[in-house]
Amino acid sequence: MTVAPRWVTASAPAKTNLLLHVGSPTPDGYHPLETLFLAVDLRETVTATLDPARDAGEGVAVTVEPAPGSGYARMVAEGAARLSDIPLDARNLAVRAARAVCDAVGASESGLALHIRKAVPVAGGMGGGSADAAAALVAVNDLVARHLGIPELAPEELRRLGAELGADVPFMLLGGAAVGRGTGTELQPVPTDGLLHLVFAPQDRGLSTPAVYRRWDAAHGLSGTGAPDPASPRALAALDPADPGALAALVRNDLQAPALHLLPELADVLEHGARLGALTGWVSGSGPTVCFLAPTDDAARQLADALAREGRLALPVNGPAPGARVDARG
Ligand code: ATP
Repeated sequence: MTVAPRWVTASAPAKTNLLLHVGSPTPDGYHPLETLFLAVDLRETVTATLDPARDAGEGVAVTVEPAPGSGYARMVAEGAARLSDIPLDARNLAVRAARAVCDAVGASESGLALHIRKAVPVAGGMGGGSADAAAALVAVNDLVARHLGIPELAPEELRRLGAELGADVPFMLLGGAAVGRGTGTELQPVPTDGLLHLVFAPQDRGLSTPAVYRRWDAAHGLSGTGAPDPASPRALAALDPADPGALAALVRNDLQAPALHLLPELADVLEHGARLGALTGWVSGSGPTVCFLAPTDDAARQLADALAREGRLALPVNGPAPGARVDARG
């Protein structure tokens, strides 16, 4: 007889956008995007546990800790980030993901608890909350299906649930590299060969994604720019095989100018990284994290060390990295 699992741990990657082209908002206020996502090996971990001893009706419980040894743990320890910025109720994206799976398979959510080990700085433009949602979708799908002895939801069904939770969630499920269209949820995987070596430089202050888009609107007027520019085929080709030198000249983020307008000091960070040997730097997503591209793994580590010696937080990461997956169950 097989014993039904009591817990499942899944992880999901952070991301940066190598291209982020923004189009004029549709009447419902959404900006159509054409983006080139890259998943990186900085991962959020979510453990889903079924504890039948918990009272029915309590809903999904959630706890969060900084992942031991992570850059985020250092930020919390140094007072540069607050755990209290993460909602521990029904607003938490991992909780919403767990509920979505339970609803979809007709399972009760009572007795379900989530524990998030957070490595990705909050509100940094690296999609940490979306990674939590993706990891929770995968963990709860695995746990509930095995526990109830029912088939798991198929990957495309998880992607559909993910798209309702947030525009980046389907990509965190997929991983690798992909062009995202629409709000970013219509994904076309991009072939890759070899790793890119990056350094994330998280900032002490967060930037609200809606505020960055409002600034983009203010700069472009309501008539805006029309449809987003298509992703450059040369940028896609620079991933297969990975060619950091070629890619450096092609990276483009339309949200960088509005992010710099809201946080002008980011321009100094970008210049500083270039002086320290980065091939290029850009604001990751809607910021404020700055992402640098290095020519080699060694160069990325040297850049991160140089930034760290100046007292700045710098996280060397590699991409592409796999999407959300089960790591352990018991
Ligand atoms: P986005 O570009 O999608 O806003 P981001 O990486 O900039 O992503 P996140 O770390 O995902 O930002 O968090 C954005 C906001 O989402 C937070 O300020 C927080 O209030 C809320 N949030 C909800 N669930 C979570 C979660 N599990 N982890 C972190 N933040 C969460």
